[in-house]
Amino acid sequence: MLDFTGFEKISDFLYFFENVSSIPRGSGNCEGIAKYLVSFAKERGLYYMRDSANNVIIKKAATKGYEDHAPIILQAHTDMVIAVEDGFGSDIHTNGVTLVRDGDFLHADGTTLGGDDGIGVAYILAILNSDTISHPAIEALFTADEEIGLIGADMLDFSKLRSKRMINLDIDHEGLFVVGCAGGRRADVTLPITCGESVSSCYSINLFGLAGGHSGGDIDKGRVNALIALADCLKKIDNVRLVSFSGGDAGNAIPRSASARFVTDMDESELCEIITSHFKTYEEAEKELDFRFSEITGEMYAFCTEESKNALDLIINLPCGVVEHEEAFPTRVKTSLSLGIAALENGALTLTYELRSSSDLSKEALARALENMATSRGASIEFSKDYPGWEYTGESELISTMRKTYVDMYGDEPNVITIHAGLECGIFSDEIEGLECVAMGPDNYNIHTTAECAFLPSVERVFDYLKKVLESL
Ligand SMILES: [Zn+2]
Repeated sequence: MLDFTGFEKISDFLYFFENVSSIPRGSGNCEGIAKYLVSFAKERGLYYMRDSANNVIIKKAATKGYEDHAPIILQAHTDMVIAVEDGFGSDIHTNGVTLVRDGDFLHADGTTLGGDDGIGVAYILAILNSDTISHPAIEALFTADEEIGLIGADMLDFSKLRSKRMINLDIDHEGLFVVGCAGGRRADVTLPITCGESVSSCYSINLFGLAGGHSGGDIDKGRVNALIALADCLKKIDNVRLVSFSGGDAGNAIPRSASARFVTDMDESELCEIITSHFKTYEEAEKELDFRFSEITGEMYAFCTEESKNALDLIINLPCGVVEHEEAFPTRVKTSLSLGIAALENGALTLTYELRSSSDLSKEALARALENMATSRGASIEFSKDYPGWEYTGESELISTMRKTYVDMYGDEPNVITIHAGLECGIFSDEIEGLECVAMGPDNYNIHTTAECAFLPSVERVFDYLKKVLESL
C-alpha cells in the first residue's frame, strides 16, 4: 500500500483503487477484473451477475430509512486504454499498473494510470463496502471493453436492471455534469470513376501539418479538413485530370493531410501561383499548414476531365461540419458530420464520413439527406457502425437533486452540458425507457496517455459529493 497520508478520508477508495490497478485490465482483457468483482460480491453476500462479455452487476439493498426510495444504478467501465512509455521495462499486460504518488497527484510508473475508469470502479466498490453511507438500493453496473467500441454495454442484458436513474462515473472533470451525448453512424460514399488514358508524367501535391482532431469534440473548432482543402485547390486548376487522391487516417478524426496526383494543360509557373495563393487562404486557421508540389514522370493512368470534376465536386459539395446546435445548450453541437478518409482506387472514389447526433431522429434525417445528395451525383452510399445517442429532454429530478447538492456543497453551480462524442449512456438511455442519467467524475488529466494523473483532492471531494447525493436521493 502506498503512503496516502493526508487522504485518510478516502482510504477505502484508495484501497480498492490499488486492488483494481494491480489487475491487468487493458481493453479486451476484462476477465481478471470481472472475477475480482464477483469475489468481492461473494465475500459480502451481495447479489451478483457476470455475463459472457465480462460485464458484472452487483446489487446492494437500501440502507435503513431508504427502503421505499427508488433504486439507482452506479456505473463505471472496467477496461482501460494501455499506453506505455518507450523503453519501459515492466509488462502492464501481465503485471497491472504500478501506482506512484506525487504529492496531490496520483499517476502510474511508465504507463497509463487507468483512472479512466478505474476511479469510477473504486468509488462504487467503496460505496458497496461501506456500512456508514446512507443510500437507496444500488445496482452497481461494471461494463467491459468500453474503450474499443462500447462492447460490454452493447451486449448487456438490461432485463437484469430495474432502476430508472443512473450515475455514470466516466467523466474526467470535477463540476462537469454530462446530460447528453452523441450517437454515431459511419457512411461510405462510393463514386465509380473509370474513363481516362495513360500519361507519362503528372504533378503531385502533398498537403500536411493541419491540426486535425476528434471529428466530434473538435468539429466546431474551425479546423480545416485537408481533403476538402485539397479538392478546393484542384477545382481551381484548368482541365484537371486526377491520377490519384487520398488522405485521412480514421473515420472519427479530422484529416490532417491529403495528397493528389493530377494532369493539366496549365503551365507550371501559373499552376504554382494558383496552389500557393489557395493554401495561403488557410493561413489564419491553420498555422502549421504546409505543402509540397512536384512533377513526377512514369507510366500512369489519368481519369478524364469530366469524371475528375465530378469526383472533386462530390468531395466539395457533400456537407461536412456542424449541422445544428442543441436547443437547450446553444454553444453545444447537436448534429454534425465529418469527412474522415478518401481513397481513389479500384475504379472508384470512396469517401468515409462519421455522422453524429444526440438525437437519433436528427441523425436519421442527416443520413437521408447525405444519401440523396450522394445518389443525385451518381454515387452510392452504405451505412454501418450505428450506435444510439443520448438526447437531453429537460432537467430531470436526478439532475435537480444533483444540482442542489452541488450548490449546497460547493457554493457554486455545476457546469451541466451535453458532449458531442459517444458515451455508454447512449446505449443505456436507448435500452432503459425513461432513464434519468448524469455522467460525472473527478479531475483526471491526460487520459489515454502515459501522463495520465488523478488529482487526489478532487477525487476526495467528488467522493464526498457522491455520498451526499446518495443520501439525498
Ligand atoms: Zn472512460
